[in-house]
Amino acid sequence: MLYKPFQDLNLSILGMGNMRLPKVEGQGEKIDEAKAWAIIEYAYDHGVNYFDTAYRYHGGESETFIGKVLSQYPRSSFYLATKIPGQMMEYKDGKYNFTGLLAARPGRSPSELFEEQLEKCAVDYFDFYLLHCFCESAWDFYTSEEINVVGFLLEQKKKGYIRHLGFSAHCRADTLDKFINWSKSRFPEECFDFAQIQLNYMDWTLQEAGKKYDILTGHGIPVMVMEPCRCGRLVRLSPEAEALLKKARPNDSVPSWAFRFLQSLPNVQVVLSGMSTLEQITENIAVFSKNDPVTPEERQLLDEAIKPLLNLVPCTACRYCCEGCPQNLDIPKLISMYNDAKQDSFSLLVLGFTLGGMKEAELPSSCIGCGACAKQCPQEIDIPGIMQNFTELLGKK
Ligand code: SF4
Ligand code: SF4
Repeated sequence: MLYKPFQDLNLSILGMGNMRLPKVEGQGEKIDEAKAWAIIEYAYDHGVNYFDTAYRYHGGESETFIGKVLSQYPRSSFYLATKIPGQMMEYKDGKYNFTGLLAARPGRSPSELFEEQLEKCAVDYFDFYLLHCFCESAWDFYTSEEINVVGFLLEQKKKGYIRHLGFSAHCRADTLDKFINWSKSRFPEECFDFAQIQLNYMDWTLQEAGKKYDILTGHGIPVMVMEPCRCGRLVRLSPEAEALLKKARPNDSVPSWAFRFLQSLPNVQVVLSGMSTLEQITENIAVFSKNDPVTPEERQLLDEAIKPLLNLVPCTACRYCCEGCPQNLDIPKLISMYNDAKQDSFSLLVLGFTLGGMKEAELPSSCIGCGACAKQCPQEIDIPGIMQNFTELLGKK
């Protein structure tokens, strides 16, 4: 396993994400504990020491589960990261409420929530703690002087309950810069130690990820990477793109290119991969056992390989949009199907097998265009527009 120094620590460059653990079939977000346990143990045994979770992952089960697995190891041998779900919290009339995916839960203040998280994770302190999903719509909550969530977390850091404070971000690049500048002027003594962003060779342009990487680097903030394979999109490319990569390095898998791309970025500290199978983790550990960054020529080859794919709708399947849909549509699934459908007529034909098994109410034509979903989307996707385009596309079939 490759490691990189971070302040006084030595972090494995491959980190274990705990948002996409194996699930029990037909039981929603319920974790398949036997399978997930084996994956996390394998990661630990093979040198992974950074484990990332969040309050809301797996319907709230992820923190409890990872706490249970890691408690078998000496506390100083792993680094645990979790997050406050401020993007799904509001403070109204002197009361905290959850919103979005967490709306059904009783509200918690940041301090109540923090206590709950320590208990769930079965730890006395967090090595890394993040504001979850900083974005334009979470600006008010995270920067409110009245709530003062960053001030509260810096207090916990002073008391030793947090070792390193950071944030994950899904905002545009200019908002990111504004937020860092805000934090530096509001807390000039000390503020964020790291930031987590969606970064991969496809999003370098699409999500302004390259700009965000440069901004963080300019501010001296190390980068933790999420979605290195863009939610599986960079695991399987088009046959043409795969052929291009195979020609250059016949023995390499397609995902290994995504990881080697990240190895070429010096300010990348940890690459979080949400590994759901032992095969994935075995392969990822092999890639991160050797420092083999892409060369400038290979970087050009990647650009060439993905050029035809850049027209995709950049959905990461986070599912933030689903909770408020009055039609109960599986929006990320429909977007993923739309991305397939618009590639070519063959894709549309094959998709017919899936569409044929779906009920009327599950199709994009059921969208009433209310727009509730788009307000929740960290990727700022025009979901109602996509549903309309998809409906029209299917009409042409
Ligand atoms: S716009 Fe369509 S997809 Fe979005 S919440 Fe409304 S009905 Fe659901
Ligand atoms: S459409 Fe947006 S909110 Fe919905 S799953 Fe995709 S990225 Fe997430």
